[in-house]
Amino acid sequence: MNTACSGIETPCFIVDAEYLRRNLEVLRRVSDESGGRVLLAQKAFALYRLYPLIAEYLDGATSSGLFEARLAFDEMRAEGGRRLYRHIFAPAYQEGQIDEILTITDHIVFNSAEQFKKYKDKAAAAGVSRGIRVNPEFSTQDKARAIYDPCAPGSRLGVKARELADMDFDGVEGLHFHTMCEQGFDDLAATFDAVERKFGGFLKKIKWLNMGGGQHITADGYDVDGLIRLIKRIISSYGVEVYIEPGEAVALNAGFLAASVLDIVEGSGSALPSAIIDASAACHMPDVIEAPYRPHIISGGAVGQKKYAYRIGGNTCLAGDIVGDYSFDAPLEVGSKLIFTDMAHYSMVKTNMFNGINLPSIYLRGSDGRLELIKKFGYGDYKSRLC
Ligand SMILES: *Cc1c(COP(=O)(O)O)cnc(C)c1O
Repeated sequence: MNTACSGIETPCFIVDAEYLRRNLEVLRRVSDESGGRVLLAQKAFALYRLYPLIAEYLDGATSSGLFEARLAFDEMRAEGGRRLYRHIFAPAYQEGQIDEILTITDHIVFNSAEQFKKYKDKAAAAGVSRGIRVNPEFSTQDKARAIYDPCAPGSRLGVKARELADMDFDGVEGLHFHTMCEQGFDDLAATFDAVERKFGGFLKKIKWLNMGGGQHITADGYDVDGLIRLIKRIISSYGVEVYIEPGEAVALNAGFLAASVLDIVEGSGSALPSAIIDASAACHMPDVIEAPYRPHIISGGAVGQKKYAYRIGGNTCLAGDIVGDYSFDAPLEVGSKLIFTDMAHYSMVKTNMFNGINLPSIYLRGSDGRLELIKKFGYGDYKSRLC
């Protein structure tokens, strides 16, 4: 990657279509061998230039609201008459948007009995299948990551078992749960057991079950065969269609963010020197701060591992715009390039222009290794969001 990046302008994202295809092959095996359907969760990755590739392998897309739904409707098409599915879930739907949503989706998931009641007739009239998101109140995530845990106490996401028992279920055709983030198969199996315990009676009444995302299916060591067996068992026990909707697993390790060092300044006190780069954690890698996590840099190590250590900081006014502390075999210089890995998911969909910082360009790396610049941003993009 380092040498391939010599001629490019930074900052930029580089998405590798072949790495994406490798993930898609794993996901396609899941649907082929289980009989379930795999949808792209667009909130993680929405580089629609690659939707034709994604549609060769996946069964459709899921959306978090009107705009993602439109993007899937406009840009994702299957070849050869294969059917694609378009699901949507939002915590609440806006009255001004529901009619359009119902013309461009085929499965709509509601977050409350009230929302279901409000829109069920419209949805039925539009031929859109109605589902309810349930909350199994079964956390499989670390308490420190409650921001990603829809089962954390006080969650607004999903109808609890006692509420579901009280609601008018007539017209509900599907159930949906989404409770995980970057997790292995065992957590899904345990979660499905909890769903079966709490909602088992309803599983017999529905046509489809959507098990959400958060499964790290394309990560090393994921028990793909276990997932296939579980989906087959659900289909045969309940006679339902089964969907999963991974986001991260689709684009895992399929992209990079390349940045250049602009300056190196002394840290205050005894801190490491800071290398200021032309990218920003706050603007271009917001999950580094929000999750938080420390991204890997090619040829970089932890402090102490290599001879020259730096704090890598972004080019905004935010004191906390820090990517992390790293060490390198050679000193960094103005112009040195840093390549952050695993930057395809939850990156381009979350970037912002705080401080008027430009967004990274987007390059596509094809199977021949060539880089093609597919998107460049500028002042007009910044100005167009304000008036
Ligand atoms: C975030 C989300 C997904 C995708 O999650 P990943 O962790 O990216 O796999 C799927 N469904 C719903 C409802 C979500 O909120």
